[in-house]
Amino acid sequence: MSVEVHSLGCRLNISESEDMRALLREADDLVVINSCAVTAEAVRQTRQAIRRARRARPEARIVVTGCAAEIERDALAAMPEVDGLVANGSKLDPRAWNAPLPAARERKAGYTRGFVQVQNGCDHACTFCVIPRGRGASRSRSLIEALEDIAVHVAAGVREVVLTGVDLTSWGQDLPGTPRLGDLCTAILDRFPDLPRLRLSSIDGAEVDPRLFDLIAHEPRVMPHVHLSLQHGDDLILKRMKRRHSRADALALVDGLRARRPGLVVGADLMAGFPTEDEAAHAANLSIIAELGVVHGHVFPYSARPDTPAARMPAVDPATIRRRARELRDAVSKERARWLAAQVGQPLWVLAEKDGTGHAENFARVRLPQGTVPGTVLCLTPAHVIEGILEA
Ligand code: SF4
Repeated sequence: MSVEVHSLGCRLNISESEDMRALLREADDLVVINSCAVTAEAVRQTRQAIRRARRARPEARIVVTGCAAEIERDALAAMPEVDGLVANGSKLDPRAWNAPLPAARERKAGYTRGFVQVQNGCDHACTFCVIPRGRGASRSRSLIEALEDIAVHVAAGVREVVLTGVDLTSWGQDLPGTPRLGDLCTAILDRFPDLPRLRLSSIDGAEVDPRLFDLIAHEPRVMPHVHLSLQHGDDLILKRMKRRHSRADALALVDGLRARRPGLVVGADLMAGFPTEDEAAHAANLSIIAELGVVHGHVFPYSARPDTPAARMPAVDPATIRRRARELRDAVSKERARWLAAQVGQPLWVLAEKDGTGHAENFARVRLPQGTVPGTVLCLTPAHVIEGILEA
């Protein structure tokens, strides 16, 4: 029986799960759960995935890795369904799996988009977050390693590279000469002149370097889409979260980029119900969605994480957290509906994917004409919006 790798949580986990599938493809009867611990809900889903895997594969070896394997180690190890844990920092090390080393480093063909991890861990200490404990200190892959990984993706037919990391914009700070993310992106675009699309996963607006700003603002091959790890729209809450930006900083960044690239689209991570959040702070959180034009939103209901400073602050009651999360999601959906409607009649360059849809440069989803070959980049002019998908 083959190997299965189930991925929970962030894009970094998705990219690492792809790496583990390539790494473990010659292993036997193995199920890997690449877990997440960013919220209590994520840990609940991890447990669910473990139980589901055991039901589906009663004979297989079930091994858990990922952030929950660090943060909830003892609790997961105590589950009867679990045969083993692999440390998050070792999951890409073949020795951690006693697995036969695959012959050559290659990728399964057929992917049109490739997630490339260039940074891991985090040196910040946001008061609600356990990720630094789950993933360790910030560390960058060298420029050479990153370019080699991208070369493998491009050789496998990938047309869009998505750079991922826990704190992506801190890439390079631990490397000789402390290059910045803008330098890495420039090197990638120079080394792969035929790569049509480079996309950034979540970034910290406070850490955007001047060269990166210029690339996002002017470079056609860098997608006009920034996903901000914003977390909140109220300054006092941002301070209590120990974030490094203010509301005004986020607005100034986006205004500055849009002044140079009008079609730029914003996504954001937003948290509902952070301890001490009152209705006024929630209103500020709601209003920043329209002010920034957030159309790709990840809304997280706050949940206390073990041994974090925020867990010791006066909590908001669960029903209020749920209501506020719903209101944030509704606000994003309204913004998104308005944005999608505005795309109708506009020519969009779309990367065709395998499921009959594709993504435009601004990450709008577009249904493809019958028979479109995955990996093709084509210009489509949507005529309608049906269930959140643009129809050409
Ligand atoms: S920047 Fe903050 S929220 Fe993000 S991983 Fe680091 S500590 Fe967590």
